[in-house]
Amino acid sequence: MRCKRCTEPAIIEIRRHRTSFCSECFLHHCREQVRRAIDKHRMIAPDERVLVAISGGKDSLALWDILLDLDYEADGVYLGLGIDDYSKRSQSFAERYADTRGAKLHIVDIPAEHGFGIPDAARATKRVPCSACGLSKRHLLNRAAIDGGYDVLATGHNLDDEAAVLFGNVLQWHVDYLARQRPMLPATDGFARRVKPLIRMGEREMAAYCVVKRIDYIVEECPMAAGNRHLRYKEVLNQIEERTPGAKATFYLQFLNEMLPHLDQVAAEERSMVGACSRCGAPSSQEICAFCKLVEKVG
Ligand code: SF4
Ligand SMILES: [Zn+2]
Ligand SMILES: [Zn+2]
Repeated sequence: MRCKRCTEPAIIEIRRHRTSFCSECFLHHCREQVRRAIDKHRMIAPDERVLVAISGGKDSLALWDILLDLDYEADGVYLGLGIDDYSKRSQSFAERYADTRGAKLHIVDIPAEHGFGIPDAARATKRVPCSACGLSKRHLLNRAAIDGGYDVLATGHNLDDEAAVLFGNVLQWHVDYLARQRPMLPATDGFARRVKPLIRMGEREMAAYCVVKRIDYIVEECPMAAGNRHLRYKEVLNQIEERTPGAKATFYLQFLNEMLPHLDQVAAEERSMVGACSRCGAPSSQEICAFCKLVEKVG
């Protein structure tokens, strides 16, 4: 198998693009895909300050690496979720990467700052851990971006993640969630702009990127992930992709092109209903935001 760009021996085949690359051309391809997503969805202007949400996994570390290679001023923020050893190990991968690149990493530790971890929150709310985790991440990452004066908050959601979320939203026809499932959510009162520059990159490509760039990342799954329905959706989509390479990208990217414009009105109505939490001042459609309610419940 030869690289389609330079004819050197290839290290990876990307079936949905009907191509294969050597390591140098593969890195070039990854940077180009990210650059294309950023340009098309007007995610980040050249002189803006970016805060990258870092989990210690392959996607977020690869995203940080690509943004730095594309010369963006990008700092990282690691959120300590209090999931025992898993959180400690993830943090050490994030710190090690920041050290090797001489990049700035902020640490927000939920147990130290709010007195509970995600397992405690799941017990107190009697809901799946990912639900408390998701709302804590949204709240605290946004706060870190606003408090740090960043223009934009970037997360490492890749094509597989977004296709799985889309699949779940369509299965249940969650129209309001569909209206919000955008690769770029503009800044509004109290919300930093949120962007997902990896939407054109598959999970397997992100793992390959880290191997080629020798980026160490936490390989094991979060121990709280069992029962996460998006993992089941990913399996289904992978089976379809196996038979029809490119199906996943078409499903998600055509949703952005063909469907999202019809949902602009729904998104605008949702935004108009947002006020401020009476306790922490964060944007919220209720008097007290979901995160403050969670803190109260766990406390
Ligand atoms: S799997 Fe669930 S609990 Fe674990 S980090 Fe992801 S969202 Fe949080
Ligand atoms: Zn090549
Ligand atoms: Zn609040």
